Amino acid sequence: MKAEIVATGTELLLGETLNTSAHYLTGKLSSLGIEVDYHTTVGDNSERLEQVLRQAIDRSDLLVTTGGLGPTADDLTKELVAKVLNLPMELDQTSLQQIVQFFGRRKAPMPSSNEKQAYFPKGSKILPNPIGTAPGAIIEKSGKTVIILPGPPFEMKPMFDDYVWPELQRIVGPDSERMNERVLKVFGIGESAIEEVLGGLMHLADVSIALLAKRAEMHIRLVARGTEATSGIAVDSLKHAEDEIRRRLGDKVFGRDEETMLGIVGQTLKKNQLTLATAESCTGGLLGATLTQEPGSSEFYLGGVVSYSNSLKQQLLGVKEKTLNQFGAVSEEVAREMAEGIRSKSGSDLAISTTGIAGPGGGSSSKPVGLVYIGIASPEGVYARKFQFYGERESVRQLTVQAALNGIRLHMLNKERG
Ligand code: AMP
Ligand code: MG
Repeated sequence: MKAEIVATGTELLLGETLNTSAHYLTGKLSSLGIEVDYHTTVGDNSERLEQVLRQAIDRSDLLVTTGGLGPTADDLTKELVAKVLNLPMELDQTSLQQIVQFFGRRKAPMPSSNEKQAYFPKGSKILPNPIGTAPGAIIEKSGKTVIILPGPPFEMKPMFDDYVWPELQRIVGPDSERMNERVLKVFGIGESAIEEVLGGLMHLADVSIALLAKRAEMHIRLVARGTEATSGIAVDSLKHAEDEIRRRLGDKVFGRDEETMLGIVGQTLKKNQLTLATAESCTGGLLGATLTQEPGSSEFYLGGVVSYSNSLKQQLLGVKEKTLNQFGAVSEEVAREMAEGIRSKSGSDLAISTTGIAGPGGGSSSKPVGLVYIGIASPEGVYARKFQFYGERESVRQLTVQAALNGIRLHMLNKERG
């Protein structure tokens, strides 16, 4: 089954809005085994939109449109789909009532232009919109399927998930080859090194493996295709590939699929009933901000100190003047004293510190931009690790946060192993 996506909206062509819907829909269609051959973006112009729709319906089995369902004169999608498919427009009473109720709930009069949103090409299966006023539609004619969805992603996504997904499953049938996917998340090893370690695994017949570099982690995406009948085999192949990758990369794999570094660290701290405090220099609070991103972080995170200057490192954390003078603020020794300092001041079980040169200025030949020390203090003692990151300031800061979280993760993993 060949599909294409047509996104409408002049704002997309002007670069004001990123076409995130095409990204979302393509992922969903691909996972159902539907091949997406074209993404087209077209402005709110009736001639050009008609031309694009005609071409799409001509060459593809499935067309998904987004946008152009509003009440205003430049919202043209349904009308032009009807024209291209040679269908009249018909009023849907249920949709009209829902739109009337939508305004009723808001105690606002319904503008007469909104009535237009209740008209659909004849024969449409109407997709309710519980969030906005624009319902969507599915039209099947002469072996072609057209799915019409609203523009705002917060309306489009639930409509797709609740109504379109089950319809598409029916349309593709049990013999379509779906994608079974798994993503392994890795930190502390680069793309080419992973490729080397994985070697022949990169070319398995039954599982395709791709490496995706993210800003502060690497993703290894595993895909195995299978029909409804063979999905068990596909899942087994994925499992074998995952086990082998984990065996080769060891604790560099920190999570899978929805799991995040922060989530894993939080879970492990909570499970072990350990508290954490932070002392930050080059990350300037980014580590604390990250640790408090998810609700429930108060169960393990006590707080921290942002000690950007040497004087605050001394005053608030008890870093010794002598250590600063002898080794400099960006040093293993200062990282250790910062971590020890915040641990004793806060009374936390674990403490972590960051000190480094985020750039773009401030580097030297002995301490280049991207040099970072991360200290970890625990009841067993204190140690610091040296990192050399590359990239612009924001990357160095993000990588430092990720490395700090990973440091905590590895610390607890090693403790569990004894
Ligand atoms: P519309 O349904 O055409 O009136 O779209 C309403 C709003 O949805 C636009 O102003 C955009 O902000 C947003 N939007 C429309 N299409 C897309 C798209 N493909 N990706 C992301 N946002 C979109
Ligand atoms: Mg629009």
